Amino acid sequence: MASVMRLNLAARLARTASPLRALSSVRQFSQSAVAREMEMPSLHKFTEEEEMLRDAVRKFAQETVKPQAFAMDESEMMTKPIWDGLFEQGLMGIETAEEHGGAGMSFTAAILAVEELARVDASVSVACDVHNTLVNTVLRHHASDYLKEKYLTRLATDTVGSFGLTEAGAGSDAFALATTAVKKGNKYIINGGKMWITNSGEAGIFLVFANVDPSKGYKGITCFVVEKEWGVTIAKKEKKLGIKSSSTCELSFEDVEVPEENIVGEIGKGYKYAIEILNEGRIGIAAQMIGIAQGSLDIALPYMAQRKQFGTAVIDFQGIQHQVAQVATELEAARLLTYNAARLKQEGANFVKEAAMAKLYASQVAEKAASKAIEWVGGVGFTRDFGLEKFYRDAKIGAIYEGTSNIQLQTIAKLIKKDYQ
Ligand SMILES: Cc1cc2nc3c(=O)[nH]c(=O)nc-3n(C[C@H](O)[C@H](O)[C@H](O)COP(=O)(O)OP(=O)(O)OC[C@H]3O[C@@H](n4cnc5c(N)ncnc54)[C@H](O)[C@@H]3O)c2cc1C
Repeated sequence: MASVMRLNLAARLARTASPLRALSSVRQFSQSAVAREMEMPSLHKFTEEEEMLRDAVRKFAQETVKPQAFAMDESEMMTKPIWDGLFEQGLMGIETAEEHGGAGMSFTAAILAVEELARVDASVSVACDVHNTLVNTVLRHHASDYLKEKYLTRLATDTVGSFGLTEAGAGSDAFALATTAVKKGNKYIINGGKMWITNSGEAGIFLVFANVDPSKGYKGITCFVVEKEWGVTIAKKEKKLGIKSSSTCELSFEDVEVPEENIVGEIGKGYKYAIEILNEGRIGIAAQMIGIAQGSLDIALPYMAQRKQFGTAVIDFQGIQHQVAQVATELEAARLLTYNAARLKQEGANFVKEAAMAKLYASQVAEKAASKAIEWVGGVGFTRDFGLEKFYRDAKIGAIYEGTSNIQLQTIAKLIKKDYQ
């Protein structure tokens, strides 16, 4: 379509004595044609439903989460009212179908929710992100109707979910996992351990990746839904640099019996589901990172407008203005990468490279924005009460989980190479 329009434009310009007038009439024609025939909204355009959700989450984040963020960080624990609020607001089943108690909304809606929460607290944001974009999505895409009915409803209404893939010996090389699931009658017996599992301190439902036949290597990896009371033990709660109120625990499984109907999808396909889900989950982490970057600006800029030195507001020094403009530009670029990856995913187009780029870049921008924001406000930024040091600490995780930055670079490079083969 665009190339036909370009050819028409070239032909008309060549025929006319007044190329500029012709250009203007072609432009008028093409603009109205675009308006009439093609919907090409900017990446900042959302459906009415998505905008409503974003506004509601912004209100919840600002009014309910923000006042508790500092105390939750200090106590390294999310409070019950915040968990309850996430469920009450419908934020634990954003894409889950209404028949399973969810909101039945788009992936982009989930991304916007994660971003808005991270603007005030990256811990609450990742709790919501992992629950929605990893746990719920694996079940929505691959679980039997029985499992969907049984677990998606609980996950949307009152039970926190965890995603257990990583182990002590299996981090970036996730499929080197050693947890086993051995068939015994109509059950599987799970033995092993998981590391770094988000939400696991509060979760009632765990997706656990275990190998049913280690002789087959990664093709033995199978995904199970495991209920906490079947014997999931929290071996250790990690004390972390950032996202401190999001629980991250080491889990242990000793002869945990799981009914065979709790296998998600097909036996031996767990590796495939894990790759798929982490590819799209990365867009959620990118959203968390742009939320952190925006939240840093939200704290710093009002202070800089009010703080005067040498009789001038700090925000008006050119040396500061250029830095603010640079960070704001990079944030916009990260945001567009993230929204674009989300829309590509939603359209069913290839999005793996774009998702990796979004996560890689957004995590860099978050670190830079939080770091610069501290410098821009001076000494007060270095204190805990002001809030920026929390954003600075919280930003660091973006380069590590759901694939480190090196792994994102590897994915991007592999796909670029493929484009030229
Ligand atoms: C707070 C937190 C929450 C988490 N939540 C979850 C969760 O909910 N569920 C879950 O399953 N996991 C979770 N993880 C695990 C997380 O995904 C892993 O930590 C991550 O994948 C990296 O693995 P690793 O820590 O073992 O690092 P390693 O894989 O040991 O990496 C160490 C270094 O080596 C580099 N490296 C590794 N391989 C390569 C390579 N091929 N090329 C170049 N460099 C390489 C890495 O980039 C990194 O710099 C969480 C981790 C943290 C810290």
